[in-house]
Amino acid sequence: MIEAHGLTDPGRKRKNNEDSLRLEPEMGLAIVADGMGGHQSGEVASSLAIETLGDFVARAQQDPDLTWPFGIDPDRSFAANCLSTGIRLANRRILGEAVNRADLAGMGTTVVVVLAGDGRLTYAGVGDSRIYLARGDTLRQLTRDDSWIEAAVAQRLIAEEERHAHPLRNVLTKAVGLQDDLEFDVWEEPLEDGDRVLLCSDGLTGVVPDERILDILSAHDRDLAAGCRALIDAANDGGGPDNVTVVLLRPLGRS
Ligand code: CA
Repeated sequence: MIEAHGLTDPGRKRKNNEDSLRLEPEMGLAIVADGMGGHQSGEVASSLAIETLGDFVARAQQDPDLTWPFGIDPDRSFAANCLSTGIRLANRRILGEAVNRADLAGMGTTVVVVLAGDGRLTYAGVGDSRIYLARGDTLRQLTRDDSWIEAAVAQRLIAEEERHAHPLRNVLTKAVGLQDDLEFDVWEEPLEDGDRVLLCSDGLTGVVPDERILDILSAHDRDLAAGCRALIDAANDGGGPDNVTVVLLRPLGRS
């Protein structure tokens, strides 16, 4: 069994909230999406992503006759196939909606998604929303940002310290709904009792450093709702420049 809690907030500077989240604790499913695009189309993109991806994963658990439009990879787990197909369906859906409506042209969204259960975490991410694993007194970022700044730091074009102030820090190299041939990986990781999994949009990580995130998670390790609240408050105390969304999950232990 998985316990989960999520919270989203527009932040201090923006009127709209283009982030979306979806939680299905009984399935161990959690999704965070951070939409982008003009005329509030970012809201449409992130909503379409969580709806399409979440609905597919939910149907796949129940319907043995479900059609898998991109086939099934026999070398991967069922959960990994669910996430892979769900994200590709979301990509196709957003592209399709944008083609038909000029006001939605160019919309896209980040997605991070986990399926947690049975001692295993299956996860995927596109864009610069993130998944972290807190275990004991350590915090590990599981996803790697699909951003220009991430690539530039990796290639040592800019120094790690310059990351937060760089003018191109928000430029993504990949997003859901912008290109037909979206490529991404799905990963698996053992999940242990006591672990906490955090999904978040960059409204949190752009403002709150990893060390502070770990402090907050440690202070609220048994109360996920309080942990979510404290993370949102930390982002807003740091100026709240962007929409901020957080989801916390933890396994409830086997009984
Ligand atoms: Ca954002």
